[in-house]
Amino acid sequence: MSDVRHSVCALDCPDCCSLLLNIDDGKASRLRGDPNHPVTRGFLCGKVARYLDREYSPDRLLYPQKRTGAKSAGSFTRISWDEALDTIAERLTAVAGEHGPEAVLPYSYAGTMGMLNGNGMDRRFFHRLGASRLDRTICSAAGMEAMTRTLGTRYGTEPEQFRHSKLIIAWGANILGTNVHLWPFILEARRNGAKLYTIDPVRTRVAKLADKHFPIYPGSDLALALGLIHVITSENLQDTDYIERYTNGFDELKQLAAKYPPERVEALTGIGRADVVDLARKYATTRPAVIRLNYGIQRSERGGNAARAVATLPAITGSWREIGGGLQLSTSLPSNSIGLDWKCPNFKNDRRWDEKRG
Ligand code: SF4
Repeated sequence: MSDVRHSVCALDCPDCCSLLLNIDDGKASRLRGDPNHPVTRGFLCGKVARYLDREYSPDRLLYPQKRTGAKSAGSFTRISWDEALDTIAERLTAVAGEHGPEAVLPYSYAGTMGMLNGNGMDRRFFHRLGASRLDRTICSAAGMEAMTRTLGTRYGTEPEQFRHSKLIIAWGANILGTNVHLWPFILEARRNGAKLYTIDPVRTRVAKLADKHFPIYPGSDLALALGLIHVITSENLQDTDYIERYTNGFDELKQLAAKYPPERVEALTGIGRADVVDLARKYATTRPAVIRLNYGIQRSERGGNAARAVATLPAITGSWREIGGGLQLSTSLPSNSIGLDWKCPNFKNDRRWDEKRG
């Protein structure tokens, strides 16, 4: 009889699935999603459903391998752990000795690494070595910073709330490919009359299933967000009470957005001016409305500011008041909010970090 154990998916994904593992003779024999978990609901995505095949694959890399031929030739020989560690240490020592320790640039992030591997031991080692310091992640820092600066935290609307929404905007979010467990909540909302809109340069699977798709030029999300704010404020569709009580900087934002009338937004984004106006009106007048933003928009020039501008939208319409409103970029909390420091020791006090943050 199998021993059934609970586990959690190690991948860095907003669904954060709960797993059930059958263990027979010390070996996992079956993996499935926990049917009692409110988000996992008994199924796993295609990346993880066959994780045991990977875990027990004969091709899995289990021992150090040393390259013996030209790069990309694919010739490696198994070596001992001692030889591997000595080889790496000699090389690091030689590079640091010749060029200084900052010639070493450690890069790793995150996926399957967990707290200890991802945020712990390597930072101590490389800090002690005096290596260059890289702001890990390099792929989501702008979005996380945008949420923190705009909302105070990067944590957004919980997946379970989406079932209560009446308008769901997937902004650069291919939900079926990247957080599939949100989809059942969206289907439930749609069965109750909600509309699904997508904003994406690519006509993704989700875009094909949406009620309306807005194909946007890559990197022009900031202009669209400011254009939406312009329409909402010029038609007086904002939630003035919410803005006065809970926000600051609205007048400056309104002045900035005034420079983005629909005709200019059309030229910058490729989305027709009538569609810009229609989207703004629908977003501001449908209650509750929620935005599922993903990290793609912040991976471009001005991407951080694009995420900031999008994050102001639910504050302008007061959508945060409602269950099923608001915005979700991430469902994770910063690691330092649970007592662990995301950055290596002293990093936040480092002069270059302060300069970088402005
Ligand atoms: S959707 Fe897939 S990758 Fe994401 S948490 Fe669930 S099993 Fe893991």
